[in-house]
Amino acid sequence: MLRFAPILLAILYALAMYRFSVWRTARELDARSSELADPTLSQITSRLAAALDLPRIRVHIYEIAPVNGLAAPDGRIFITRGFYNKFKAGEVTAEEIASVIAHELGHVALGHSRRRMIDFSGQNALRTALAMVFSRLLPGIGTWLANMLTTLLAARLSRSDEYEADAYAAALLTKAGIGTAPQKSLFLKLEALTQSNSGAAPAWLLSHPKTGERIAAIEKLDQRWT
Ligand SMILES: [Zn+2]
Repeated sequence: MLRFAPILLAILYALAMYRFSVWRTARELDARSSELADPTLSQITSRLAAALDLPRIRVHIYEIAPVNGLAAPDGRIFITRGFYNKFKAGEVTAEEIASVIAHELGHVALGHSRRRMIDFSGQNALRTALAMVFSRLLPGIGTWLANMLTTLLAARLSRSDEYEADAYAAALLTKAGIGTAPQKSLFLKLEALTQSNSGAAPAWLLSHPKTGERIAAIEKLDQRWT
């Protein structure tokens, strides 16, 4: 029984860290966000809501500069101030913002946002827990193995999540009569932004698969639907 104590401890530690990350994220978001009140954007989100048979879709502004959209573990959708500013400056259209909201709604609807906490702040907990177990079983390479496995797992999880959320968004945008064009044009715009930023990609692109492959996947769906 004592043999398994470190493993049990590691699991308990990972669970506690996970709960803590969820709590800390929710607190940070509460403190630094407010509900988005933009007439043009509410008009377009109400079209998404109608397609989903929902009374309305609530979107929040998260007061940070990086261009990003996110779905909190509690299901709330956020657009960063940086992204909203791009819309206000006319660099990004309302339809393109709607495509980000649809993508984040996909993460919520498909249950990714809870799991995704493991990608973000929970990832270190998993790494530590695995390292504790592995270095007992395989002294010398345990830590290295734990690192590799965690990175691999996170990358795989997030990659398939992104394609699923893109497909969800494509379906929703099509049903709402907006179409997938803004989804694709936004990817290209963000990529162009990366070039002009001397290679520094907007946050929303960094956590996602390659632009070309994402566009190709959406085009495949378009062909199937038309
Ligand atoms: Zn995503």
